[in-house]
Amino acid sequence: MSVKSGFTRRSLLQAAGVAAAALPLRSLQAGAAVPGGEAWSEERLVPTVCGMCPAHCLVTAKVRDGRLESLTGTGDNPLNGARICARGMAAPDLLYDPDRLKYPMKRVGPRGSGQWQRISWAEAIDVVSLRMEQALRRHGPESLALFAAGPSALYIKELFAEFGVSRVNDSRYEHCHCNREAAYLATFGFAPGAPARLDYANTRCLVLLGSHFGENLMLPEFRRFTAAREQGARLIVADPRRSVIAAQADRHLMLKPGSDTALLLGWINYLLQRDLFDRDYIASHALGLDELREHAAAYPLERVAELTGLTPREIEQSARLLAASAPAVIIHPGRHSNWYGNDVHRLRAQAILSALLGAPGRPGGMSLVGLNEPGAEVTPYARGRQRLARALQPGSKERAEEIFRALEADQIKVLGCWGQNPFQGYPNPYRTTLAWRRAEFVFATDVLPSEACLMADIILPEATFLERSGRVELRDEVDPPLLTAGFPALQPAFEARDPYWIARQLSIRLGRGRGVQYPEASSRLEHELAPWRLRLEDLRRGQGYVALPAPPAPELDEFRFPTISGKIELVSRDLVEAGQAPLPHFHPPPEPPEGYFRLLYGRSPLHTLSSTQNNRRLMDREGENELWLNDEVADRLGLGSGERVLLENQDGLTSLRTVRLYVSRDIRADAVYLVHGFGQRSHLLGRAFHQGVSDAALMSRATANPVTGTHALRNNFVRLRKVP
Ligand code: SF4
Repeated sequence: MSVKSGFTRRSLLQAAGVAAAALPLRSLQAGAAVPGGEAWSEERLVPTVCGMCPAHCLVTAKVRDGRLESLTGTGDNPLNGARICARGMAAPDLLYDPDRLKYPMKRVGPRGSGQWQRISWAEAIDVVSLRMEQALRRHGPESLALFAAGPSALYIKELFAEFGVSRVNDSRYEHCHCNREAAYLATFGFAPGAPARLDYANTRCLVLLGSHFGENLMLPEFRRFTAAREQGARLIVADPRRSVIAAQADRHLMLKPGSDTALLLGWINYLLQRDLFDRDYIASHALGLDELREHAAAYPLERVAELTGLTPREIEQSARLLAASAPAVIIHPGRHSNWYGNDVHRLRAQAILSALLGAPGRPGGMSLVGLNEPGAEVTPYARGRQRLARALQPGSKERAEEIFRALEADQIKVLGCWGQNPFQGYPNPYRTTLAWRRAEFVFATDVLPSEACLMADIILPEATFLERSGRVELRDEVDPPLLTAGFPALQPAFEARDPYWIARQLSIRLGRGRGVQYPEASSRLEHELAPWRLRLEDLRRGQGYVALPAPPAPELDEFRFPTISGKIELVSRDLVEAGQAPLPHFHPPPEPPEGYFRLLYGRSPLHTLSSTQNNRRLMDREGENELWLNDEVADRLGLGSGERVLLENQDGLTSLRTVRLYVSRDIRADAVYLVHGFGQRSHLLGRAFHQGVSDAALMSRATANPVTGTHALRNNFVRLRKVP
């Protein structure tokens, strides 16, 4: 069977663009001089943290005469070794992108026109702080809203919180953490961690449900995953598409989209009915076995086969592989989880399956609670309660849907957007555009002029991760855990500024801001390191990180799970108290209308969501996305690979451009698939503008998850229109 782009088991790292050394940037060196950086001369090696994706690998920047020459993996560090991926290698093309936001600007044309006038930082800060102060005084904190994601957004989020603003949305939390925290906290009392704390070194079997390792490339975890496979760990992948990783699996279950929860309940029932679960572990550590057994009995093999489109034999064999590998089994908690609206149920079923196999707290399974920071004000139990309360709030004001509604009701006077592009990150950019127009004042902070910047009244240009201080991060997914910090390798180009500096200037004008009270970002980082009795200099000398003493592994026999009962809750009391079902249910998603296909989306190892589509080096390698289409369907429609089609969704929304077809048997006949992040509509992005097709622009249905209020994105359907 063919695999897209020729990925094979052996070539996965190379195919993903992973290299142990970066290329010299001769073309960039030959380019026009960029202001900034002149004060530092000669060659320097600066250890720092890669900010091209959330994996935050440890990298070393080689700087010569004030210009970045190369990025490489830092030594043989425990996270990414000496490796770096294609996106990390392309970081200089972000730094020297000719379309970068260079100066503070104010809008002089209609919103969306991109007509701006250069202004001073003093004026920009004055205008933003004045509008914030007026809105707070006249209308209160509910009249402000902020979309802010990534490490650079921490300080502005803290500042907004100090003013009591609750409408602060973080797309990473909403898409990746909210549902899984709800599910895992309700089951175990702790979140799985991000990255998840999984014992790859000792595992015997890995299960991935809709997780596309290698395509969604985060080197540190991928490296541990690859090592586990090389040591013989078996792999089960449940996915409607034969992804890169599914092509390598011992068992690829090409299930019907949206039927994952049925499969999980089928596995649970099979293990319970045949006494293949860890009876002693459950007796000692869990509550609710009888109710679970009764509940799961509704999912016998034949019914699950019907619901999932798999054969009873496929389900049975994979269940037996799980049982034979227990307890050294990793049921991966995944990352992006806003799929069909029943996502907390699916993740709860994953957590319960993991418990039945006896994996939590056992070698080769899931680590128990993470390292507690010294001097932490709350216990793991209290922290878990806070996080669960945050997740189990379908009407929370921090959800994107609630902010869109507040905008549509003219309740938002000041809207900020910081390092986040809701026009790609949330469904239906047409709705987002109309909502944005309702805000009285909009400011945006970013490196590049994204669609969100186009709609802003004031632009605050931000330094790239190579030009600013990074965050102090505790990396407790590796053993021993590490503390890492990013160091600026260059001075900010043009008039871009460190996000700490920007937030601090606003706080000075507004007269509040504990988080940015220190004159420099580095002073704040020193403050964060103090409980560890470390200085930034220690991390700098350690090439950007310091290994901490490994905490003693909790004794499972004496371990009290930080739930209300102190046990793993197969039947969740928290969910009952929140008015939700205490056991996971399968809710079939809506079926595609006749002639339509379910629109699935995912990642490419060459791009990070919608943030890299203006990067010269990456766009040279993957300049547009393709639509995966099943080969038998293509035959029926008279279409072939390489042909171009328009896409029209169930509500008549049509793609703005055509998309090239990739015809293959590697996807089911009821679905099509696109890489996310393309089809951007900012005409100020010379390379990204209208390249490929936006999946978000074909999502006019995004029903809210009833448990958490997050969007459900995979209930949209498209049909293909041939281009005459
Ligand atoms: S995996 Fe992410 S953090 Fe690591 S080098 Fe690649 S882009 Fe950078």
